[in-house]
Amino acid sequence: MIYDVAIVGAGVIGGMLARELSRYDLKICLLEKENDVAMGASKANSGIIHGGYDPVPGTRKAKLNTEGVELLFAVAQALSVPCKRNGSMVCAFSKEEESVLEALHQQGKENNIPGLAVLSGDDARKLEPNLSQAVTKVLHVPNAGIISPYELTVAAVGNAMDNGVVLKRNFPVSAICRKDAAFAVTATSGETVRAKYLVNCAGGYADKVAQLAGDDFFTIIPRAGEYMLLDKAEGRRVGHTLFQCPTEEGKGILVSPTVHGNLLVGPTATKTETPDSKDTTREGLAQVEQLAAKSVPSVNFRQVITSFTGIRASEKSGDFILKASEKVPGLVHAAAIDSPGLTCCVSIARYLTALLGEQGLSLEAKESWNGTREDPCAFQKLTDEEKDAYIKRNPAYGKIVCRCETVSEGEILQAIRTNPGARDIDSVKRRTRSGMGRCQGGFCGPYVMALISRELGIPMEQVTKNGGKSYMLQGRVGEV
Ligand SMILES: Cc1cc2nc3c(=O)[nH]c(=O)nc-3n(C[C@H](O)[C@H](O)[C@H](O)COP(=O)(O)OP(=O)(O)OC[C@H]3O[C@@H](n4cnc5c(N)ncnc54)[C@H](O)[C@@H]3O)c2cc1C
Repeated sequence: MIYDVAIVGAGVIGGMLARELSRYDLKICLLEKENDVAMGASKANSGIIHGGYDPVPGTRKAKLNTEGVELLFAVAQALSVPCKRNGSMVCAFSKEEESVLEALHQQGKENNIPGLAVLSGDDARKLEPNLSQAVTKVLHVPNAGIISPYELTVAAVGNAMDNGVVLKRNFPVSAICRKDAAFAVTATSGETVRAKYLVNCAGGYADKVAQLAGDDFFTIIPRAGEYMLLDKAEGRRVGHTLFQCPTEEGKGILVSPTVHGNLLVGPTATKTETPDSKDTTREGLAQVEQLAAKSVPSVNFRQVITSFTGIRASEKSGDFILKASEKVPGLVHAAAIDSPGLTCCVSIARYLTALLGEQGLSLEAKESWNGTREDPCAFQKLTDEEKDAYIKRNPAYGKIVCRCETVSEGEILQAIRTNPGARDIDSVKRRTRSGMGRCQGGFCGPYVMALISRELGIPMEQVTKNGGKSYMLQGRVGEV
């Protein structure tokens, strides 16, 4: 069988493109090297829907950011993905930084961002009482928001699959060759997929995938960002997302609520050699704490429940690379999608679809396409009486597995059975929040393992934390 389009990489860009293309009468295949979707930058980022004042006017980033904000809010609603328009503030602490705010304000106007205003420190503190007294002015960005990036990716891929897209996990693309007007895309296992068009959405590895296909005009420069996530006890410390003035390295350290009611602080910006490093460092986290406290001195860092690192996939031009290959017919790159790539995921998916159309891909709309998705958290939103009636019909929803986040067995089974089904402990966590709370899975982990083992029909010894050889059990006590 020859697919019309194969997409390499099931991050938010590959996932959203798969969903967008699933509107049309096409055979589409999404190839991912890991055991789940959203395993790269789309899993570990700030989750901010950026207002659009930051990209340089006239760039592709600026245009796609301006278009992308409302498109993303609309798609998130259609896919029942948690998001909120909480607004953001960029804080100035000195006269020099106030002039940076003015420049950002002007840039935002040129990018057509609605509602921007520079407020005095005192006016900002009326909206954000915990904001530092040292803040002299802020740029208020009311159209900005927050979203759960991995739930968005899961939902986009799930919706694409519901509309006919094939997802192949554990498919690390290791060879690409073009013959008879089609690509043969081969994984390390030897399995090969054939497709007429190939889209490179491989994030930090996009330059390597381009090279496999015979293209080499860009190099990804990975930059690590370290974060700390705080317990929900700190979640109301701020309502807006609070940025400091951006630098060459990025948008600066932020303090932000998350859609699930935690507090997020970070990220740093340091060069790294490894596009999928997950390491945090003592120095990086100390820097996060110090700079976050500059914006909000009252943050209680004793409430940190976890820390993590995300890797930005940047390129020297500073702009997104959304381009048909000049060397290889049928190959399209979506590379160097660093921030605000999450905000732009829908606008990028539409841009790429049009680009594929220009390359000759036939885009005939499918009547059967359904762009909506059932809310995986629907049970959580019921009233107590409704929950009671639901549990009588589905007793698994009455068994609480994760006590920190109140997640039932029914919701975990639903996550395993719904596209793209969870296959390991971390993918259950990303879909249901089981293991996301204060105890970080200490209590619910074994129960989740048992459910995965039962549902997938595999022994407990084969259940992994996040695919590969990350087995949860090493053997029986006394035998190891
Ligand atoms: C620290 C940080 C903070 C950020 N904050 C924000 C923010 O607040 N707002 C915002 O709008 N944007 C933000 N971004 C940017 C945003 O996260 C990215 O633009 C977006 O996630 C990129 O998605 P992607 O699909 O291109 O890449 P990824 O999510 O990295 O996906 C690439 C996928 O390709 C797979 N892959 C790689 N090689 C192969 C191969 N050979 N074969 C098969 N599969 C392969 C990977 O496993 C991965 O799943 C941030 C990024 C970082 C790192």
